[in-house]
Amino acid sequence: MVNRRIADILRHGQPDETVTLQGWVRTKRELKGFAFMEVNDGSSLANLQVVLTADDLPNYQELLPKINTGASVEVSGTIVPSQGKNQRIEIKPQQVQVYGEADPETYPLQKKRHSFEFLRTIGHLRSRTNTLGAVFRVRNACANAVHQFFQERDFMWVHTPLITASDCEGAGELFNVTNLDLTNVPRLDKDVDYSQDFFGKPAYLTVSGQLEAEVMAMAFRNVYTFGPTFRAENSNTSRHLAEFWMIEPEMAFCDINGNMDLAEDFLKYLFKTVLEKCPEDIEFFNKRIDDSVLATADNIINNEFERITYTEAIDLLLKAKRKFEFPVEWGIDLQSEHERYLAEELFKKPAIVYNYPKEIKAFYMRLNDDNKTVAAMDVLAPKIGEIIGGSQREERLDVLEKRIVEGGMPLEELWWYRDLRRYGTVPHAGFGLGFERLIQFMTGMSNIRDVIPFPRTPLSADF
Ligand code: ATP
Ligand code: MN
Repeated sequence: MVNRRIADILRHGQPDETVTLQGWVRTKRELKGFAFMEVNDGSSLANLQVVLTADDLPNYQELLPKINTGASVEVSGTIVPSQGKNQRIEIKPQQVQVYGEADPETYPLQKKRHSFEFLRTIGHLRSRTNTLGAVFRVRNACANAVHQFFQERDFMWVHTPLITASDCEGAGELFNVTNLDLTNVPRLDKDVDYSQDFFGKPAYLTVSGQLEAEVMAMAFRNVYTFGPTFRAENSNTSRHLAEFWMIEPEMAFCDINGNMDLAEDFLKYLFKTVLEKCPEDIEFFNKRIDDSVLATADNIINNEFERITYTEAIDLLLKAKRKFEFPVEWGIDLQSEHERYLAEELFKKPAIVYNYPKEIKAFYMRLNDDNKTVAAMDVLAPKIGEIIGGSQREERLDVLEKRIVEGGMPLEELWWYRDLRRYGTVPHAGFGLGFERLIQFMTGMSNIRDVIPFPRTPLSADF
């Protein structure tokens, strides 16, 4: 007898086949002399129905009270056509074994609908619900598609460090990494004496793997990172986590246009693949969470993204027949309300905004000939706002050094980054895609805490 996943049985199981399956009871319905038990093992949204009868099961009477929502079971039996109209097949068991019971008085996941806020308080159990189950299956399919996309195109997956000593990016958003005794910190005058710390200098959790990805791109041309990044974001929003996963491709011999092409192809590919791999889950999101999920996927796959310069975007925002909380003028950083207006209301599809004022963008972004803007690009998505941020990188040593100094950063610390421009420099470009923002976008889940199994946010690091 083959042990099979429930998704496989539901999809391919044929009457008269014998199977063994394992999982957790979702529901039990008792009727006169028999009972329906629905079992789920995380492989699919749908449960597999098992019909329990005293005729089939000699231990029926003692078994029944042990079968409750949340209990773990193993079932061996025969696939039979189902009489019910909700399912094609069901299981007529020869044997049912309860591994672990779940007390119905205390098991927190009873059949009623729970709020996502409540489910976050039971992060160790919430993956057993329909919605979170679907989220994490989509997340898995999407992560796999990320690798597939890049590997098919000969991009090398490079592993960049999580601990970094460079604080050039994300000032203010950095988590310190230290093993100093915080109750007795060594000091030099007023300052912390980091020479006594583990790395002999201040160290942080990385906010991005980009600088190291650039190093690797200068040897392998096309590379990508896919791993966790950390930001001590104090804004408690539905789009920010303190620990999130980021995908950062970097391409040598590539400019901002190639970068925009890759970002667009990438998003299209991911949506298409996830639709193919998880059709039931996506349909579930469309029906239960956000009725624009399928239309959004269709929109991404079948439309060319709008591409406009920052300057054009500002003009469009100034012409908008609506008030913004943050006033619009050339030079401002686009706020979420502006980004959403462009993607959601005006274009009704993703929009790529490029060539931003140099003052609001990072030092490594390539200075345009106008001396005012840099070759930065953001992909703005309906409902989400910024989903991808990227740029062509400054490959000219003199211009880069000027930008570093202007930004008030220490040249010396970036010696290795500057060396890349000294030896065999090439035009290159890349972007960062927040993986959880993407999953939000795909599923319509409104809070980013509900698309990562164990969210880390201010004052919250449970489970
Ligand atoms: P935002 O303005 O939304 O905070 P950002 O400008 O800080 O974004 P980047 O530094 O360009 O973002 O990071 C690249 C991508 O990582 C973003 O486009 C977004 O998808 C994602 N991202 C950024 N910060 C977070 C966060 N705290 N939690 C989850 N995803 C994030
Ligand atoms: Mn940010």
